[in-house]
Amino acid sequence: MSDVVEKLIEALGAEKVLLGEDVRERHYHIWHMGEGLNAKAVTLPMNTEDVSTICKICSDYNQSIIVFGGLTNLVGSTETTGEEVVISMERLNQIEEIDEVSRTMTVQSGVILQNIQEAAADKELLFPLNFGAKGSAQIGGCISTNAGGLRVLRFGMTRSLVLGVEAVLMDGKVINSLKKIIKDNSAYDLKQIFVGSEGTLGIVTKAVLKLVEAPKSRNSAFLAFDDYQKLVAFMKFIDRGLAGALSGFEVIWRASYEVMTGPNAHNRPPIPHGFKYYVLVESLGADQDTDRQKLQDLIEETILNDNAKDAVIAHTESDLSWFWTIREDVKILAEQGNVDHHFDVSAPINELGDYVDKAEAALNALEGVHAAYPFGHLADGNIHFIVAKDHNEKPLRNAINDIVYNPLTELKGSVSAEHGIGLHKKKYLPLCRTEEEITLMKTLKITFDPKGLLNPGKVLDV
Ligand SMILES: Cc1cc2nc3c(=O)[nH]c(=O)nc-3n(C[C@H](O)[C@H](O)[C@H](O)COP(=O)(O)OP(=O)(O)OC[C@H]3O[C@@H](n4cnc5c(N)ncnc54)[C@H](O)[C@@H]3O)c2cc1C
Repeated sequence: MSDVVEKLIEALGAEKVLLGEDVRERHYHIWHMGEGLNAKAVTLPMNTEDVSTICKICSDYNQSIIVFGGLTNLVGSTETTGEEVVISMERLNQIEEIDEVSRTMTVQSGVILQNIQEAAADKELLFPLNFGAKGSAQIGGCISTNAGGLRVLRFGMTRSLVLGVEAVLMDGKVINSLKKIIKDNSAYDLKQIFVGSEGTLGIVTKAVLKLVEAPKSRNSAFLAFDDYQKLVAFMKFIDRGLAGALSGFEVIWRASYEVMTGPNAHNRPPIPHGFKYYVLVESLGADQDTDRQKLQDLIEETILNDNAKDAVIAHTESDLSWFWTIREDVKILAEQGNVDHHFDVSAPINELGDYVDKAEAALNALEGVHAAYPFGHLADGNIHFIVAKDHNEKPLRNAINDIVYNPLTELKGSVSAEHGIGLHKKKYLPLCRTEEEITLMKTLKITFDPKGLLNPGKVLDV
């Protein structure tokens, strides 16, 4: 047993430090459960003090650390080499306070996103962050990746939903920025440095989350379009018409929709196959019947003006669940090939139609690619591709990456709209960040973690 592990056991107790078989029974990602975790030890802190102790000891021994949240990231951020000590946040899972007047929730960072949503709903409040992995992703992971998801259009990314953060630095120092206030211009906003830093600057142990009053109504509709410009015009029309109530605007391209609602899918199609684009909209408001009527009137006008080709409105809770399960079941796209390759890119909305057409055609023409499946949060300028392919050999991987990433420099887009850089996208960061920006990021990393021990090799090579 190494000195650092002995010291960790001495400080925390053996029940909080897993070794050997207990480590191998774990995994580094929810989609790789059978593979066995490769790490020196897994630590299971119960509170901030434990996290601080682990960091201090590891820093003294020059021991690298990797933080595990819900293990749902899509960029290799929690892949290990075998040399790291893992800090798994699963036991920091308490909701400490819900303040109904300030509309805040104070949570430990290991609380699962869905539990936060449900606890807020019990108080007739809403925590708006929402995406497919909500049943596994932890709030600390969401903060560290600045997660986006299905309601960014109305409520912003995680960054907009965090009022306070407590984080532990690599040397064990605790930075407490746990305030419930919305307005705070007292110098630099330090908590935001930890948001989106992918576990490379500090370990988030607690957060104060911003809640909003729960909406009384939720309505959704599926529409079909054949023309990108008409689709974009509809986005503006419906947003204006609903006057602030539009909370989701998702687009599913034809190839994706036909698999998500095809013969092998879990869901039947609400609108027939054969159109180029399928749009799923959501509105959150105050009165179910009036709001549905408003949505229906706007959609009827769109159909009458020959902008949309077809449309269907959800009339029941089960319709709502049916529509959104179609959008959230992206796993079925990944299952169409032997291997799947994921993208989350962004570009100005006006450019996205053409960009997707060209990328989809070029990807489908590559030997080894089974099919490319585009879908995404179009109102945020964010498109996902899942490329189903025969194998994962490097030349094919690079050719696919080049098709998707290279045009983004000219479009002034991003290689990561929401999933982060992790390990898999590091090489492509210079396509969307200047040399000066990357140099400043490296300076920040060295300031926070001078020995380079926190999640080494992820995001930047320092
Ligand atoms: C089906 C599916 C759908 C998804 N949809 C979306 C989507 O719509 N939008 C979106 O943004 N993402 C999406 N994701 C990606 C993923 O769910 C998010 O990135 C999520 O925020 C990761 O949270 P996690 O707890 O699983 O973090 P992990 O995967 O465990 O970790 C992610 C990174 O954060 C670090 N980290 C974790 N916890 C902490 C902490 N407490 N302190 C410091 N660092 C920490 C890790 O070291 C790692 O670098 C999806 C994933 C899946 C599988």
